[in-house]
Amino acid sequence: MSSPLPPALSRLIEAYRSVHDLQAAAAVLSWDQETMMPSQGREARGQLLGTLAGLRHEHLAGAAFADALAAAEDEAAEGEAAQALLREARREHDRATKIPGELTRAMAEATSEGLASWQRARAADDFAIFRDSLARIIDLVGQKADALAEGRPRYDALLDLYEQGSTEAQLAPLFDGLRAELAPMVQAAADCGVEVDEAPAQGQFAPEAQYALGRETAAAIGFDFEAGRLDQAAHPFCTGFAVGDVRLTWRYQEDDFRPALFGILHEMGHGLYEQGLPAAWQSTPIGTAVGLGVHESQSRLWENLVGRSRSFWEWLLPRFRKAFPEHPAFEVDHIYPALHTIRPSLIRVEADEATYNLHVAARFELERRLLAGKLMVDDLPEAWDASYKELLGVRAPSAADGVLQDIHWSMGAFGYFPTYTLGNLIAAQLFDAARAELGDLDAAFARGEFGPLLDWMRRHIHQHGNLRSADQLVQDATGAPLSPDAFLGQLRASAAAVYGI
Ligand code: ZN
Repeated sequence: MSSPLPPALSRLIEAYRSVHDLQAAAAVLSWDQETMMPSQGREARGQLLGTLAGLRHEHLAGAAFADALAAAEDEAAEGEAAQALLREARREHDRATKIPGELTRAMAEATSEGLASWQRARAADDFAIFRDSLARIIDLVGQKADALAEGRPRYDALLDLYEQGSTEAQLAPLFDGLRAELAPMVQAAADCGVEVDEAPAQGQFAPEAQYALGRETAAAIGFDFEAGRLDQAAHPFCTGFAVGDVRLTWRYQEDDFRPALFGILHEMGHGLYEQGLPAAWQSTPIGTAVGLGVHESQSRLWENLVGRSRSFWEWLLPRFRKAFPEHPAFEVDHIYPALHTIRPSLIRVEADEATYNLHVAARFELERRLLAGKLMVDDLPEAWDASYKELLGVRAPSAADGVLQDIHWSMGAFGYFPTYTLGNLIAAQLFDAARAELGDLDAAFARGEFGPLLDWMRRHIHQHGNLRSADQLVQDATGAPLSPDAFLGQLRASAAAVYGI
């Protein structure tokens, strides 16, 4: 902060601090729940988290915060940071007050019940078990969207929760363009007769060695372990409580090193962003990440664009051999195809770079129709299968591997999926812009020099926190609005190298 803030704005920041701290405390408890907590702690933990969420809402929606906000708005503060602080504080306050308490409680109950019935339905491979909960959740999500919409389409109000400012009108043509390019590419890869040899990635990989290699790699790239940790969890995630305390989690498969290594690189990308947020604005509404799309761009960048490149593997290979001395030796040329397979798959989280966005496109289409009342819950399983047949040419043999595979809808998270695709597109565009500015990044990666790329991300993305919109960040960093061109260009290049298509 260069100059002292005007008094009313300082008081607003002070008022916001408890909102932030309650949120961060809840995040610590959630991290513990996923990594350390014994299973019998679940009920007590649910109560603790509920109390903290209630307190946070009371602070944010309460009269004291409203007064502090109004006073700060009257003060007419100048400068980008002050404007952004007021904008974000207003946005969070309005969101907290617009949704009736009754609806918030109903939603909490419905999603708690929804999560449980989704798990039962998935285990029993029976959509009917989840049907009523999902119908209730869609009804409540629709009410929530209406409360937040202010004249916007329902779906836009939901998208805005995860990626501020993104709209259906902006996303629909992006997805149309991706579908038109990706579906034929997936078909061509299937028809070309090339069988990728995945043997170099498979074998016996001791978990301790996988952990050590993942940790060493993350540290070499620039993740600060004095300001973060890496622990095991059932589902990998990253959570940051402060710039100086960022937690990554990982899981492994003993017969294939890829899930652990690329999972760690993915979460590390999120973690680098969290560690690079502006410390001066910590605990304020602008000291956070800008949105889920940009967040995901940082994870995809290190996981896919760096971690699957030849030059990165030239650096990694000697370290890999040391970690797994028993594993049959291979060269970079042998592993490269196994890192760039294109194969129609049933499960989104296991999908490759080419098919991943088709999985998202299917969900984008289905959830819009569900919320618009154009698709009934009873018809969802059939619509899901039809969509997969059309986009990926596959049909799930069971509901568990089809319509029940993702947790998101059971938690009421509609409008969330598109941020995964936004992340892929933003990552590719940022990477091209960084390469154009920094020159031969491949030579740097091969020498284990990741600092120049990380510094570029720090300057163009991380240090701005939530000061500017995602659209503005991408425009400022790359000189152009977001488009799928960079992503498709990079994908075509690897498809040509591996499949000759
Ligand atoms: Zn991610």
